[in-house]
Amino acid sequence: MCKLSEIETLAERNPDIPFEVIVKEDLLRRGMSWSREALAVAAEYKRKAYFIFSFDMVPISGMKQKENINAPEEARLTGGPYHFRPVVVSVRLNPDSPYRVEAGENSLVLKLAGETVSEVELQKTPEYYGKTLSNGRRINEIAPTIEWGYLIYLTAFRLCQYPAAGEGCLYCDINENYRQQKDAGRPYAPVKSVEEIMEALEVIDSADSDSKAYTVTGGSVTGTLEGKSEIDFYIRYPEAIERRWPGRWISKAALQALPKDEVKRLRDAGVQIYHPNFEIWDARLFEACCPGKARQVGRDEWIRRILDAAEVFGPENVIPNFVAGVEMAPPAGFESVDAAIASTAEGLEFFMSRGISPRFTTWCPEPLSVLGKERRGAPLEYYIRLLRVYRDTRAKYKLPAPRGYGETGLGRAVFSVSSFMDII
Ligand code: SF4
Repeated sequence: MCKLSEIETLAERNPDIPFEVIVKEDLLRRGMSWSREALAVAAEYKRKAYFIFSFDMVPISGMKQKENINAPEEARLTGGPYHFRPVVVSVRLNPDSPYRVEAGENSLVLKLAGETVSEVELQKTPEYYGKTLSNGRRINEIAPTIEWGYLIYLTAFRLCQYPAAGEGCLYCDINENYRQQKDAGRPYAPVKSVEEIMEALEVIDSADSDSKAYTVTGGSVTGTLEGKSEIDFYIRYPEAIERRWPGRWISKAALQALPKDEVKRLRDAGVQIYHPNFEIWDARLFEACCPGKARQVGRDEWIRRILDAAEVFGPENVIPNFVAGVEMAPPAGFESVDAAIASTAEGLEFFMSRGISPRFTTWCPEPLSVLGKERRGAPLEYYIRLLRVYRDTRAKYKLPAPRGYGETGLGRAVFSVSSFMDII
């Protein structure tokens, strides 16, 4: 689907899903390219920090315009011939995408195969991004913000021990992204110390009023890291932050599904929202796509731990992520949209009927991951139907708006790697 008229036809057939959201999902699954002039404009705004994965559809070696250095973190689509209400979308680079941002007379413009879709706004670079810590590391490397400044993303460990053991999740490029960023000269270090993060937050606390939440996350620790288990390594961050600034930000942790006693420690440290990411509902595909998690924890135990966590945090504060669309990735994935939606709808029903609301990241077929080599995302129709079943299942169980994501609703939502907040 490469023409705007084809997107229009799809939108006409799905009048309950806003046109803006359909375009956003299409951009997330296919990426966007940038003209040289548009990139020059973008370089003056907040740039991609590569906060954990690449979230690109080409490796850095394929970026002839050095997009990895100059592309913005996010774009906000607005106005234009379709009168877009603002939608914030993560910038996933793909020079081959039919979507292209160009420099118009007075603003940046998003085009699909040469036809104008909307205007494009970019976020100003926060003033603290240019500052450095006492050890010389830059704050935007230690504590970047995403979601239009709402979320401080604290990747404490930039690597994952599953891929190192040959058991990485097949859709994930965390270690490969680390390698390519280092090779390209980005000042990545595997671990951010508690002291570095605290120093960065000290600056952000005094200079910023946009950030309302932070997430502590990083790769899985399957053995030990600096002599510590996963919980012992990661818990030090929220403990220190909440001791210094109790409740200043909504505190979130995205870690593996941990045993109940460890989850209680997270809560007692001041974490408010827990993301024990489930990634993919189907049992066969969970085993195939997450071999490390399947071996070390196991799908049934992972589910049990999510339910245990709901008792500890309250179900509305347990938000497992799904990688939306990866269940259609060849060779093992579902071949039909019907089958994929039926499977994931079953997972939504399971969790939502218990008061737990998963969320989505639209799958980015990253070429440095095992499943992303063909750079072929799930069909756009899948995403439209997924958003519908997500919205309707939430409504069926009268679930409250997810905390820690900012406002809901088209024109207000800031979550940029899927549209789940735009449609509720
Ligand atoms: S657990 Fe899987 S998804 Fe998470 S960082 Fe490791 S390989 Fe990637």
